[in-house]
Amino acid sequence: MTVTADATSLESGVRSYSRTWPATFERAQGSFLYTPDDQPYLDFFTGAGVMNYGHNNPILKDALLRYLTEDNIVHSLDMLTPAREDFLTTFTEKILRPRGLDHTVMFPGPGGANAVEAALKLARKITGRESIVNFTNAFHGMTLGALAVTGNSMKRGGAGIPLVHATPMPYDDYFDGDVPDFVYFERMLSDSGSGLNKPAAVIVETVQGEGGVNAARREWLRQLADVCTRHEILLIVDDIQVGCGRTGGFFSFEEAGIVPDIICLSKAISGYGLPLALTLLRPELDVWEPGEHNGTFRGFAPAFVTAAEAIRTYWSDDTLEQSTITKGAFVEATLNSIVAKRPEGELTAKGRGLIRGLEFADPDKAAETCRNAFESGLLVETSGPRDEVIKLLPPLTVSEDELNDGLTLLRNAATDALG
Ligand SMILES: *Cc1c(COP(=O)(O)O)cnc(C)c1O
Repeated sequence: MTVTADATSLESGVRSYSRTWPATFERAQGSFLYTPDDQPYLDFFTGAGVMNYGHNNPILKDALLRYLTEDNIVHSLDMLTPAREDFLTTFTEKILRPRGLDHTVMFPGPGGANAVEAALKLARKITGRESIVNFTNAFHGMTLGALAVTGNSMKRGGAGIPLVHATPMPYDDYFDGDVPDFVYFERMLSDSGSGLNKPAAVIVETVQGEGGVNAARREWLRQLADVCTRHEILLIVDDIQVGCGRTGGFFSFEEAGIVPDIICLSKAISGYGLPLALTLLRPELDVWEPGEHNGTFRGFAPAFVTAAEAIRTYWSDDTLEQSTITKGAFVEATLNSIVAKRPEGELTAKGRGLIRGLEFADPDKAAETCRNAFESGLLVETSGPRDEVIKLLPPLTVSEDELNDGLTLLRNAATDALG
């Protein structure tokens, strides 16, 4: 395909990633994107963790092409199709039940924010309470309900109306260990004079991807689940970015041994970049009336096909889980070695599994490192309240050589920026 005009002038100024990476990307395979003149870019962003199994994964592509070639159903609202049935049974039998989860599957609209809106709406309906507790530096999406439980002030500013019925609490390590976990939250809950309305639910990310790659400790997550149980508050885990194997296990909360009441999934669930979102509910919480939360695109059949195939291929045993943990440890060790070579406090390594972060004391240097990386053929993006953390989200299927090459490019990009 030849590009004849600069199409950016035809598009709203709201576009953002095309500013970070001012190139046209035409093809993709595995861990690489290619421009029309075949310049390769190693993708350590993967659509914010959408392409966990690599771009145009050949196994998933075969299943999708077969499905389309046979004139199978593409759109069906929520009418039954073999693709829907196959996804539901595969997901339940291979993902939920082996992990002791008896959740039922709800399909909200196709994106992550749809899954969050459904979770918040249902929590309010079940409890009859309006308030939700969220955490500092949380990100849950850009629609009004999801934005109300999101921290970032620039994104909140776009709402244009008050964002209410949400109360932020300090995330793990918000006070650098100076304040014991949950003293503030527990006190607010038990003191009838605190001014905190009893919340319907708490919504949490086990690793805050957009918020700066902050990984909560297992003990902190367990304490949070315990607070929720004792105060009869529903626990919602937003696993949209770090679920689907990003931290090793399929769900990011498995390691902590907690069982959320409601779980949100999207991004990597289709495995192929096709839009699909799930809100998983403990069965007794499924109090929806038929059609009470409706939508045109609640279960995109081609996404069911690739999602089911991805589960069969990658989640029938623990091979992927183990390799993600091994690769994550390798990235961690490499980032630690980069940090150790710099003056104290200039850089900090963060993260869990294959979501890793390199935090810069000076946010300008993080931006410069991203630009340098792009120029050398590596796609990485910043996150965090001051865009001070470079976030690494390579495909889980990345090869050891690719991982090594990407980290070398990152090291050079950072060294050039820091001088
Ligand atoms: C991306 C993301 C969302 C929102 O998903 P969209 O598909 O962009 O609406 C919500 N929560 C988390 C943790 C995310 O990473």
